This record gives sequence, structure tokens and C-alpha cells, in this order.
Amino acid sequence: MSELHARHRAVLPEWLALYYQDPIEITHGEGRHVWDADGNRYLDFFGGILTTMTAHALPEVTKAVSEQAGRIIHSSTLYLNRPMVELAERIAGLSGIPDARVFFTTSGTEANDTALLLATAYRGSQQILAMRNSYHGRSFSTVSITGNRGWSPTGLSPLQTLYVHGAVRNRGPYAGLTDERYIEACVEDLEDLLGHVRTPAALIAEPIQGVGGFTAPPDGLYAAFREVLDRHGILWISDEVQTGWGRTGEHFWGWQAHAQNGPPDILTFAKGIGNGMSIGGVVARADIMNCLDANSLSTFGGSPVTMAAGLANLSYLLEHDLQGNARRVGGLLIERLRAIGARVDSVREVRGRGLMIGIELTEPGTADAAPGKVAAVLEAAREGGLLIGKGGGHNTSVLRIAPPLSLTVAEAEEGAAILEQALRAL
Ligand code: PMP
Repeated sequence: MSELHARHRAVLPEWLALYYQDPIEITHGEGRHVWDADGNRYLDFFGGILTTMTAHALPEVTKAVSEQAGRIIHSSTLYLNRPMVELAERIAGLSGIPDARVFFTTSGTEANDTALLLATAYRGSQQILAMRNSYHGRSFSTVSITGNRGWSPTGLSPLQTLYVHGAVRNRGPYAGLTDERYIEACVEDLEDLLGHVRTPAALIAEPIQGVGGFTAPPDGLYAAFREVLDRHGILWISDEVQTGWGRTGEHFWGWQAHAQNGPPDILTFAKGIGNGMSIGGVVARADIMNCLDANSLSTFGGSPVTMAAGLANLSYLLEHDLQGNARRVGGLLIERLRAIGARVDSVREVRGRGLMIGIELTEPGTADAAPGKVAAVLEAAREGGLLIGKGGGHNTSVLRIAPPLSLTVAEAEEGAAILEQALRAL
């Protein structure tokens, strides 16, 4: 055990999980690469989810952050804050929500917490619909709507949550149905549920589940849900913490694959927008956002340094069409990984959109999760100089790939080759 690992173990919570038997200390990064304290260089195929949306040490963001930090780091939510107003204007314009208002937080958890506060206050109900296998955070309120028990530290919940089918396509009672029948079955299930319960405040859903293993329903599922929700006055909250900002390639927001009946009422975002700086936030229709009787919710959301990072990062990703890059490079990478997966018995499915790609590993010929294999591939990829992630509600059965959105074709090829070796070693 390294000296730093021993000190970590001695002073930090035991449940603060670290990747790898011999955890890595990252000391610096550049572009799509990071370096550890021993000088090893890794191609980073997971930094996109771990908040580095665009590129490590992006000069534009570094400059904006240091210039703002040199002026003022934080004043107070009680005074006007120009970078906050500017970023809010840009996000409101991009959100697709009419008459949008934006509130900034410091994390995705806090963003979802705020969305729950808004929805429950607006509707006067503490009932929430959430998707099975979901992940929305682990604070006291968000853990109640996280349908993935492995991620729920206590199992205690201050909200009454009802879980809905629909997010995991290749398991459960509706596996094997056509897209159309799958949507019909999930809608019937939702209608049935609403026949038994009082009036939920909202349905919260990740358009593509992140921690749950990069699982996506057929396009249009949430539009079909929306029709039912509208009949009951129930709000739709889209958790875009992983799917926002063009990562899925085809769309800027994940909800846009389900847009037939209009945008969500509330959208939450976080992670990548700050390119590593701590930003989260909520976008909501004005009548919903303004329903609270509060003067602020916390002190640090919208701090000028994080807002400066967000503005610089957003400009960069729009000007360089990183959504288009995610579509092109992600499309090639998915194809390449599918070809590799077809030759490895333990690969059950390679799925994804843009630069959000999951490889589900099972015991060959079955749907039984293979967490040991996932762990082995992670270690082997690291040996080969590649960092990837893991997830999946079914005993951690999925390798997760979410590189910074500026990934090049050459880097995609390089990462795929390392992964091929790691998978073949199984
Ligand atoms: N929602 C989703 C979909 C997430 O993936 C996460 C983080 N993994 C969160 C919310 C919570 O975000 P944060 O870690 O910034 O609190």
C-alpha cells in the first residue's frame, strides 16, 4: 500500500471507494491524458464523466479561472454577479425550456435536491416517480430517488418514491420486445401505477442512465410518458448531469431524443460544464422556479470563479462543435468496440450514443453479471495505460467509457486497441 493510500485509509471514510487495487494518485493532465505520481501517462476514457468535459488543463478555462480568481473569488449571493448572469442567460437560451430561469448549485446532487424542492413545493406532494436502476445522488433527498440499491448508503428516505420501468432495455419483464411494444408496455405500467397512488409531484429520469450502466430506453419513451404525466399535472424532471452538453452526439440534451411532446419542466445539470470546476444547476419554467418562498438556498452556487470556468468551457465546446466531434469519434469508437466485442465471449452488449459508451460483461452465454471480469478489465486497461470506468445496477456489470469530448480519432483507436487486449486477456 502506498504511503498516501495508507494515510487516506486512516483519515477518510471507509466508504470513499477508490478504483484499482493500488489506487492512482493523479498529479496532472493535458488534453485527453493524465499522469500519476510515478510519472505514468494514461489515456483518460473516463474523465468526461468525472467532470472533465472538454479537455484536461484547457488553456481557455485555466486563463478564465485565474483571471477571475485574481479579481475576486467570491463575494456573496447578496450582490450582483456578472459571470453568473451571463452563464444563466446562455444556459437558459440553450435549455429548450420556454421562459426559463436558472439556479446554480455546486454539484449535481444539490441540483437534483433543488429540483425536488421545487417540484414538491409546486405540486404540494412528497410523492416522486423515479426510474428503476437510476442514480441521482446520495444526499438525504436524492438517495430516496436513486433506484440502484448498491448506491444507497442507508436505505432511509424522506420522500415517498415509486419506481417506474423503462430505463433498462435488455433485462426485466419487457426485455426482448420491439421498441414500440416496449414503450407501450412501460406506459401501461405507468398508467397502472398512477391508478393506485395519489398525486406524485414529478417523474425524474436520466435520459440515458449513467451510473446504472449507460442504458437507454428507445427514443420517444419519455415523450410517451409525458402524455400520461400531463393528464395528471405531474412534472417531468430530466437529469442531464451525464447526458447534457452534447455528449450523446446526436443531441445537445438527452431529453431531445424524447422531444415529441415538448421539453421537460425542469432540467438539472452539473459535472462537465465547469470542466472540473464545481458547478451544478437547475433550469425550470419561471412559474415553477419562482414558487419558493426563499431568499437563497446556499452560499456558493454561482461563485464567480466557477461561472468564469463555465463560460469559457461552454464557449469552447460550442465553437469547436464538440457535440459533432462526440457524434463522429463516438460513432467510430462504438463501431470498433462492437467489432472487438463480437470476438469476446463475455461481452453481452456494446451500447451507447456519442461519447457515452457501455460494454456489458456477463458470464458467457448468460445474462449473469460478471463483476470480477469488469474489475479484471479495469486493472488490465490501467496496465496498458488506459483509464475507464465501471457501473451498472446488476452487480457492476458494465465498463463505462466517457472520454473528454475533444477525443481524437487516433486516441479513440489507441484506447480501443488497449481495451481489446484487456478484454482478450479475460
Ligand atoms: N445525477 C446523475 C445522473 C449523476 O450521474 C450524478 C453523479 N454521478 C449525479 C446526479 C450527482 O452529481 P454530483 O456527483 O455532482 O453530486
